[in-house]
Amino acid sequence: MDSLIVVINKIQDILASAKITTFELPQIVVVGEQSSGKSSVLESIVKMDFLPRGNNIVTRRPLILQLHNIFDKKEERRKKSKEKKNEIRLEAERPWGEFLHQKGKKYYNFEKIRQEIKDETERIAKGKEISSKPIRLSIYSKDTVNLTLVDLPGLTNNPIGNQKKDLPERIYKMVTQFASNPRALILCVIPSNIDIANSRAYKLAKTIDPDSERTLAILTKVDLMDEGTNVRDIINGKVLPLRYGYVPVVNRSQKQVDNNVTVKKAIKLEKKYFQNHPSYQDISDRCGTKYLSKTLSKLFIKRIEIFLPEVRRKVTTNKIKWEEQLKTFGQSKIDGNKNTLLMTLIFDFSKKFSALIDGVDLYEDEHLKFLQGGSRINHIFYEIFTNFIKDIDPLQGLTEKELILLMKNSKGTKKTLFIPDKTFEILVKNKIENFRVPCQNCVKIVFRELDSIITTKIKIEKLNRFLVLKEKIIQKSQNYLNSLLEPCIVFVNQIVDSESAFINLNHPDFKKPTDHINRISSNNNDTNGNGNNTTNNNNNPNVSNNQQIYSHRNIKKTSPIKFIDMLNDYPTNRNWQLDIKNTLTMPNNIKDFSIQKYEKQEIKLLKNLLMNYMKIVKIKLIDTIPKIIMFFLVNKLKDNLQNFLIEKIYQPKKIDILLAENPEIERERKNCERKVHAYQKAEKILSQDFSRILNIIEN
Ligand code: GDP
Ligand code: MG
Repeated sequence: MDSLIVVINKIQDILASAKITTFELPQIVVVGEQSSGKSSVLESIVKMDFLPRGNNIVTRRPLILQLHNIFDKKEERRKKSKEKKNEIRLEAERPWGEFLHQKGKKYYNFEKIRQEIKDETERIAKGKEISSKPIRLSIYSKDTVNLTLVDLPGLTNNPIGNQKKDLPERIYKMVTQFASNPRALILCVIPSNIDIANSRAYKLAKTIDPDSERTLAILTKVDLMDEGTNVRDIINGKVLPLRYGYVPVVNRSQKQVDNNVTVKKAIKLEKKYFQNHPSYQDISDRCGTKYLSKTLSKLFIKRIEIFLPEVRRKVTTNKIKWEEQLKTFGQSKIDGNKNTLLMTLIFDFSKKFSALIDGVDLYEDEHLKFLQGGSRINHIFYEIFTNFIKDIDPLQGLTEKELILLMKNSKGTKKTLFIPDKTFEILVKNKIENFRVPCQNCVKIVFRELDSIITTKIKIEKLNRFLVLKEKIIQKSQNYLNSLLEPCIVFVNQIVDSESAFINLNHPDFKKPTDHINRISSNNNDTNGNGNNTTNNNNNPNVSNNQQIYSHRNIKKTSPIKFIDMLNDYPTNRNWQLDIKNTLTMPNNIKDFSIQKYEKQEIKLLKNLLMNYMKIVKIKLIDTIPKIIMFFLVNKLKDNLQNFLIEKIYQPKKIDILLAENPEIERERKNCERKVHAYQKAEKILSQDFSRILNIIEN
C-alpha cells in the first residue's frame, strides 16, 4: 500500500480511538502555473484518473475533492460475508463520486465525473472565465483514504484572448487564500522545462510559507526537458534549496491520456524511466510518484505533530468531562449490606416526608418559589377553609315570606306571640347542613396535598437508581394514606352531625337580643332561660362578636385571591361555591301571604338569632376541622409511615428484586464507562511521541 495511505489511515485510527471526529487533517493544495501538471500530480497521488486535463486553462474553479474510504473494518466484514452477491462487490469496488451541487446523484464512471466537472465549471465560469466558487466532489473508494485535496486554477501572467485584465490577480488571490490555511500542505508544481527561479508557484509558496514548513516542490515534465539538460542540481538543492526538497516526476502526456493509459500503468512507466535514465539512474529512489508519496507522508506526519498538543488537550478535556459524568451515576456495585441500604432508603423517604410537612427541609431552591408541603396544608386551613366558612351567609336564599311560612307552620294551630324554639332549630339544622360538604372538601384537599407530596415532591437522588423500590415505596405510602381518608371523613361528618344534633341555646356566646323578645312577648316568658342580658344595645346587639370573627379576615383581605389561585388545581375547591347554593328549600305556595307588622319584627329577630348562632358554629368548625385532619390524616401518616413501609416492603427474600437497578441508568453508566475507557486509552497513546504512536498502532 502507498505510504501516504498507510500514514493517513493510522492517523485516522488514532483519532478514532481518541474519539475525535472534529479534528481536521491537513489538506493538500496544489499551486502551480497553467498546464504545469497540477491535476496530473493529484491524480497520480490518489491513483485515480478523473480530473479534466489539457494544455489550455482547464481548471477554472477550485475543486475540493473529498476522498472517503468506504470500508471501515466492520463494513468490510459485512461485505465479505455477502461476497457471493456479485453486484454488491462490483459496485463497492468501482469508485464513485457525488457532487455537492447535485447531492444524491451518484457517479459510477470516471468519464462521467470528468464531464460533470467540466459542465459545472462552465456553468459558473463560461469560456475562459474563472470563478473562486469551489466545486465540491466526494470520491468514495476502498482504495483511498479520508483526505481532502484542492485542485486550483493555474497561476498566469497575462490574460489570454478576451479574458478580463484582472484575471491573473484574481487567480493569485484565490490560490493564496487556499494555501494560507495552516492545515494546507502546499504542493508547489513546477514544470522542469522552465526556469525555476522565475516560477510564480515557487514565489507564491515562499511568500505564504517562508520557512517551507509545509511546502513540497514537484518537478513535472522531466521527460520533456531539452536533451542534455536535467534537474539533478535542483534536486540536490544546489539551485533554490527547500526544506523538503524537490521530487521529479513524469506524468502522463496528453497523448497517453488520449490513448487511455491508466494512472497505475503510467506510474510503472515512470519508475522505469528514472531507473533507465542516465541522469537519474543513481538517484532513482528519490524520483517519481512513489517517492513523492513517501515524502508527502512525512510532511503529513510533521504537520499532524504540530497539531498534536491540541488533540491531546481535547482528549484530556473529554476524558475529564466523562469521568465527572460517571461519578454522578454512583457505584455500579451496591456496596455493603443490601438490607441496610433498603432500610436507609425507606428511612430517607419517610424522613423527607416529615421534613416537608414540618417545614424543616429548607435547603432546596423550590422553597423560594412555591409554598411547600406543610405550609401548603397550613394555607389550606387558615386561608382557604377558614375564609370559606366565614363567608357562608346563613341568610342567603331565605326570603321573608319563607321565614313567615316556616314560623306559621311551626306554630301550627296555636297563635303565639313568640318565635317558637322549633322554628329556630329547624332553621339552624338546615343551615348547619350547608357546612358538611366544605368540611369534607377540606379533608379531601389536604388528602390530595399529601398524595402529591408522596408521589412527586419527595426527591431522593439515591432512590432513582432503584425504580422498583421507588414505585413500591410510593405505592405503599399511598395505600396507607388511602386507609386514613375514610375514618377522617367519618369523624368530620360526625362533628357536623353533632352540631345539628343539639342546638345549644344556652351557649355562653349565644347573644339573644332580649329587648326584642320583651317587646314582642307581652308575657315576658323567657323560654330561653338565659335571656335578660345586661346589654342594652338594641341597634347593634352583636358588635363584639362581629368584630371577633371578621377582624382576622380584614387584615388578610388582599391575600386570599392569590392563595386560592395557587390551589386552583383542586377542582373540589371550586365546587364549594356550588355546594353552598344548596340551601334550604321551602314550600312554594307562599304568594298569598301578606306580612303583618309584628311579623316583620319577628323576622328581624329570627334573622338576628340565626346570625348569632351560626357564628358560634363557624368558629367551632374553623377550629375543630383542622384539628381532626391533623390528627386523623397528617400526623398519623407522618408518625407511622416509616414503620408501615418497613412492615409492607422489607422482605429479605425479595431484596434483589427490590434493589434491581434502573436499566436506563445502568445503560447510561455503561456508555459513560466506555467513553472514559476510550479516552483514557487515547490519552495514553497520545502521551508518546508521534513516531512511537505510529508503531503502537501498527503492532
Ligand atoms: P494543470 O493545468 O496544471 O492542471 O496541468 P494538467 O495536469 O492538466 O497538465 C497539462 C498537460 O500537461 C496535460 O496534457 C498533461 O497530460 C501534460 N502533462 C502533465 N505532466 C506531464 C509530464 O510529466 N510529462 C508529460 N509529457 N506531459 C505532462
Ligand atoms: Mg488542472
